[in-house]
Amino acid sequence: MVHVLDTRHLDRPGIIASTAVEADDGLVLFDTGPESTFGNVAEQLREAGFAAKDVRHVFLSHIHFDHAGAAWRFAKLGATIYVHPRGAPHLIDPTKLIDSATRIYGDEMEKLWGQFAPIAEQSVTVLHDMDVVRVGPFEVRAIATPGHASHHNVYQWEDNVFGGDVAGVRLGGGPPVPPFVPPELHIESWQESIGKIRALNAKKLYLPHFGPIQGSVSAHLDALDGRVRRWAIWFRDRMRAGHGEQQLISAFAEYVADELREEKATEDEIRDYEYADPSFMAVGAAMRYWQKHHSEDVSRFQSEDGQL
Ligand SMILES: [Zn+2]
Repeated sequence: MVHVLDTRHLDRPGIIASTAVEADDGLVLFDTGPESTFGNVAEQLREAGFAAKDVRHVFLSHIHFDHAGAAWRFAKLGATIYVHPRGAPHLIDPTKLIDSATRIYGDEMEKLWGQFAPIAEQSVTVLHDMDVVRVGPFEVRAIATPGHASHHNVYQWEDNVFGGDVAGVRLGGGPPVPPFVPPELHIESWQESIGKIRALNAKKLYLPHFGPIQGSVSAHLDALDGRVRRWAIWFRDRMRAGHGEQQLISAFAEYVADELREEKATEDEIRDYEYADPSFMAVGAAMRYWQKHHSEDVSRFQSEDGQL
């Protein structure tokens, strides 16, 4: 039995989910949501007849605070935390992670994400690509899926895949979009990861943003793949033409809103997408990606100050 728990982050429903699955020896959680919403998750677990301490296994898609922020709370209650090898050091010593997030969020850190604490090393288990964990009679398989972040896993459990951000953000009745965030956005890896998820032939795909997708998993992945490519090219062409960061932020927000509107998203949903996946982050991520990995593709017509 699967329970999609709504963290109601900043009182907004339907944006950040933590997903619980019942196993023989307690609960399994796929992503925890931020620490600031730990109380909301615990309350929903109680409503489902459980307590937070019943969570024995926590599988993290990646270590960004909206996914892993409350992991240390569950670890304190005795859960084992599973994570990609590159994510593990930052759970055990979150100093660098907190510093880099503080550069983005500044004074909003606590309000957005709550409290931070290290996780004891013995509570963290790293999972490499295709590693399997036995949970009661079940097997959970980790699939390394970089693109959104280099340390990203998705997890397969029978016919289900628990997707993480590489599998897209899909809110309300809207389409899947790829959350581009710095500093590790990598387009080719993302597309390969979508291929790996497709090869799992899952019947159900659960997203942290938000919940099980309706309809076919392969149609979802096709739409996501198309958008990864389209967005990357949109940025490449404008960078090539010499557009600067500020100009791109407003233009990209407009471009995404138009795309979502065409796909029948409501104005409220468009706001939710912007909240879950802010345009300014996508711009920073895409500019860094192109400059770092394909600078020859974006600098040809630019003079030194980046203007035409
Ligand atoms: Zn996320």
